Amino acid sequence: MSAAPSAAPTPDAPLGRTALVTGGNRGIGLAIATDLRAAGYRVVVGCRSGSAPEGLDAVPLEVQDPASIVAAFDAAEKLLGGPVEILVANAGITRDQLLLRMSDEDLDEVIATNLAGVIRCARRASRGMLRLKRGRMIFISSVVGLYGSPGQVNYAASKAGLVGVARSIARELGGRRITANVVAPGFIDTAMTADLPPERRDLYLASIPAARFGATAEVAAAVRFLASPEAGYVNGAVLPVDGGLGMGH
Ligand code: NDP
Repeated sequence: MSAAPSAAPTPDAPLGRTALVTGGNRGIGLAIATDLRAAGYRVVVGCRSGSAPEGLDAVPLEVQDPASIVAAFDAAEKLLGGPVEILVANAGITRDQLLLRMSDEDLDEVIATNLAGVIRCARRASRGMLRLKRGRMIFISSVVGLYGSPGQVNYAASKAGLVGVARSIARELGGRRITANVVAPGFIDTAMTADLPPERRDLYLASIPAARFGATAEVAAAVRFLASPEAGYVNGAVLPVDGGLGMGH
């Protein structure tokens, strides 16, 4: 007996069309913001430094500072004319050092930016999403969070932590049509990877099944899917964009 095909999924209507991308002034964040805007979303980028990227609205945002997060959301909501329906928590830093030599500052700054900053942004974003009874939270983690990496204990811990954050939010708010997912990029061509010594770059390339670094646009495409109405039943997932580097982890 063949089962009848199940009914088409119910999209999250009306469409979530407003987005805030943290660290959206350059690198992966800028690619995500540009891509979402091209797909028809109204996008505001959070900028810690520099000026607004061409064609995008921007608000000042230092994710280590709780007051700055609240002010940035307030300002973004004014620009967007309503709550942030899609949060892309992308701002992140590395302070690589071997465990034995890692300073308290290297540890604290990475956790404050990549983990505590994200939780605070999610907390503030949840207010508007709960009111709307819909929302998308997308956390930019890293392959390193699940795979591990020597010299990156602080960074890997912060990025692994985002999986727990997303899955807890998924369980807490999933019934309100709010999803929380993780995108885990591998090595992507940005300022963060440009400074790698050539021999380390070659070593990494040898372990990536795709045999190349990724493009920022490839991360943006994954984010666009998770932000879309069609992804309403994807919750608490980790979506790798890593050329196969981390598969199985
Ligand atoms: P970049 O270093 O190019 O950009 C980082 C962005 O985060 C910048 O906009 C930066 O602002 C912002 N930022 C850093 N600290 C803060 C802060 N305290 N408050 C607000 N904004 C802040 O990084 P990428 O574009 O390469 O990376 C983006 C995200 O993707 C990060 O979370 C990173 O960990 C992750 N990732 C990157 C990979 C890669 O290969 N590039 C691989 C896996 C994950 P400012 O311009 O002021 O410095």
